[in-house]
Amino acid sequence: MSDPSALSGIRQQFPILDQEIHGHPLVYLDSAATSQKPQTVIDAESRFYEQDNAGVHRGAHELAARSTEAFEQARAKVARLVGADSTEGSEELVVTAGATAGLNLLTTAMGNASLGRGGTDARRFALQPGDEIVVSQAEHHSVLLPFQELAARTCATLKWLPLTEDGRIRTDVADQVITSRTRVVAVTHVGNVTGAITDIAPLVQRAHEVGALFVLDACQSVPHLAVDFHALDVDFAAFSAHKMYGPTGVGFLYGRRELLEALPPAQFGGSMVELAYLDRPAQYMAPPARFEAGTQPVAQAVAAGVAADWMLGVGMDRIEEHERAMTRALLGLADVPGVRILGPQETQGRIGTVAFEVEGVHPHDVGQYVDAQGIAIRVGHHCAQPVHRHFGVFASNRASTGVYNTVDEAEALIEAVRGVRAFFA
Ligand code: PLP
Repeated sequence: MSDPSALSGIRQQFPILDQEIHGHPLVYLDSAATSQKPQTVIDAESRFYEQDNAGVHRGAHELAARSTEAFEQARAKVARLVGADSTEGSEELVVTAGATAGLNLLTTAMGNASLGRGGTDARRFALQPGDEIVVSQAEHHSVLLPFQELAARTCATLKWLPLTEDGRIRTDVADQVITSRTRVVAVTHVGNVTGAITDIAPLVQRAHEVGALFVLDACQSVPHLAVDFHALDVDFAAFSAHKMYGPTGVGFLYGRRELLEALPPAQFGGSMVELAYLDRPAQYMAPPARFEAGTQPVAQAVAAGVAADWMLGVGMDRIEEHERAMTRALLGLADVPGVRILGPQETQGRIGTVAFEVEGVHPHDVGQYVDAQGIAIRVGHHCAQPVHRHFGVFASNRASTGVYNTVDEAEALIEAVRGVRAFFA
């Protein structure tokens, strides 16, 4: 944020940041794992429980009406943030337990379609032996594994887009990797290790050219960039509220309206069925309810709607500008002797996340060393082992930013990392 008083005003809205860790002011650089929450989001969840709490869509009483309205308004607010249809009761956003749940919902539903469930409309989702599923080597396990499992269940072949040396998804080979046998392409919008922003336009175009569906993992883009699923022309997209200043336990699966209408359900039970019988098949509800079996995370969804509004209130252009400045500052890590950045070295085309290794020092040791100075970063493989293999390591350190971070904090991390090798020598 170019205006320091605006940034300080934002920081003050995050109560958790106002504390010391091991005698040092907390420097939270782990927002790619989960972001911190502004007071307004924290309050929204407790206010819902204090005033409106009731099951949605099924009660005739006042509280049920209020909670239903709050739930549907939240869906519309989040839809507005990501360029989905935001009319209330919109059919394009399914409330899930998170991105992982949304991706599993989609792949399970596609598996069901492959078994012939869902009738003729669902045939467009059915996979057959020899069909191809394309992911990339940059994928989080929450994309890789559901699609790998779908391939195993349908005898389809899993293929992947390789990476450039510095970890960007190679779009130049799209025509070779995505073929007439490809039925679905699933890639990340922003790498959760490299921070690289994928140029998805050529991939979407190629997928559609061959009649394949395009699925976007938007977990690491929605928090940092203005994202418009309609403009990006993606068919499905998954993201989690807890990475975009909202609560845990809730996320969203976007699907183009006509696709969700044709997709068979993945989970079965209450709240998703119109007519249920003992002696004949049930009739399921229209989307999004068809995909929201059971009792929804209503309080969390309501707070996620408040988070979406909060982000729009700050302004996505300001958030993006700030995150780019923070990324630039974190890339100063490259100047520390013995540090290697796992991802593009330049600031262009990347945002939010900088992963690195310190020569000769285990990432867990680095993490503990900086934690002793109050600095929180992530260590490990960040649920993305194939991309680590690409860089020839099993694990790394990852610093990632939110709208509340300051350049001073990035510098504090860099200064701390400067001391690592001497300490462990
Ligand atoms: N995809 C990416 C790129 C992620 O960073 C994450 C979370 O770390 C996920 C998917 C899975 O999100 P969740 O754990 O909230 O379901």
